[in-house]
Amino acid sequence: MTPPITLDDCRRLDAHDPLRALRDLFILPEGVIYLDGNSLGVLPTSAPARIAEAVTQEWGTGLIRSWNEARWFDLPQRLGDQVARLIGAAPGEVVCTDSTSVNLYKVLFAALSAQKKDSGRTVVVSERSNFPTDLYIAESLCRERGMTLKLVDDPSEIPAALTKDVAVLMLTHVNYRTGAMHDMAALTKRAHDAGALAVWDLAHSAGAVPVALNDADADFAIGCGYKYLNGGPGAPAFAWVNARHADAWTQPLSGWWGHAAPFAFTPGYRPAPGVGRYLCGTQPILSLTALGCGLDAMLAAEPLGGMQALRTKSLALTDAFIALVEQRCPEQFALVTPREHAQRGSQVCLRMADPGQRIGGPAYAIVQALIARGVIGDFRAGDEQMPDILRFGFTPLYLGFEDVWNAVGNLAQVLEEEEYRRPEFNTRNAVT
Ligand SMILES: *Cc1c(COP(=O)(O)O)cnc(C)c1O
Repeated sequence: MTPPITLDDCRRLDAHDPLRALRDLFILPEGVIYLDGNSLGVLPTSAPARIAEAVTQEWGTGLIRSWNEARWFDLPQRLGDQVARLIGAAPGEVVCTDSTSVNLYKVLFAALSAQKKDSGRTVVVSERSNFPTDLYIAESLCRERGMTLKLVDDPSEIPAALTKDVAVLMLTHVNYRTGAMHDMAALTKRAHDAGALAVWDLAHSAGAVPVALNDADADFAIGCGYKYLNGGPGAPAFAWVNARHADAWTQPLSGWWGHAAPFAFTPGYRPAPGVGRYLCGTQPILSLTALGCGLDAMLAAEPLGGMQALRTKSLALTDAFIALVEQRCPEQFALVTPREHAQRGSQVCLRMADPGQRIGGPAYAIVQALIARGVIGDFRAGDEQMPDILRFGFTPLYLGFEDVWNAVGNLAQVLEEEEYRRPEFNTRNAVT
């Protein structure tokens, strides 16, 4: 048996953490242990002043001149080049724009168009446990095109689902609810061997785990700006298109911002070269500016080992959390997230161990009681297929091992003192 983890162990790990200094790049509220960076990232220290500057100087004084002078115009591409460094893509292959949902519509449409009309490929394969917006968007596109969305219940069923009528395999790399991570290279190869294209959603991967889109030879990818990239609430998302597709296919939202010469104001659409055509209309400059602050903070880890170093720390944090939960609350919880490192994202999800409490048990109230104590995680409601889940995201940029110790300490106290029974923790808010 491994010896129990102590508070001294955690403090020692923090003292030797090569990424410790990165914590200063973020403003964290006093008395809060933030385990929800996978849902809404924290405020970068540079953001308030940078956003104020964009408002008062670039907008207020520069006015329309700022499209050129403050380089607003190519901001989606410049930020895209920063994102590219985090996801194994090349400069010029990524744009930051629109929401994840809208970008999925664009790239999935392009992927479906990339299959020949007479190929008989009329199926999109995904997982039933995928994030709902991904399924809703795919459902709508399939309906529009007379195609079928086929959902598998378990990842092990994916290879067998790749029959010769499949046009696209559309997966989220790290599952939002379980924290389980797919083998992107292996599944992309499976899809290609079956004649299908691979579309990846990196919402819980970009800035959380190393991603190698070009090495995996993926076809299209999208991801979120406000989660691990700390771009702020509703931050613009990103889209990546493999160079072999970028010039070949036109996305459906052919707005003027994706035109080859938007200021020629010609009546006919001519797509910009490369991924630039995945832009649609005028860009949200203030939101992009905030996203830029998040990306700068993320890339500050590059001289310290970058995503590989962040991954090493993330796994150590999640390992410590799992071990401490098993040490302090061995009876109450079961682990939902895979133990194997290769299959784990940067979050840990628990469910109540008692099978009678798979849904409608105390999971929601436990999360509320934790939040009242300043330990912010979140709750994801279950259904017949999936139990209720307590979800804890670990962002190695600003979390330490003592934070993990304290989080589990609070969790154990919520249970010991049965705080979750209090009525105020049992009323559901609109946003969980
Ligand atoms: C968070 C998330 C989204 C969010 O989409 P929005 O368009 O930003 O609301 C989409 N897909 C996945 C897999 C997510 O985790």
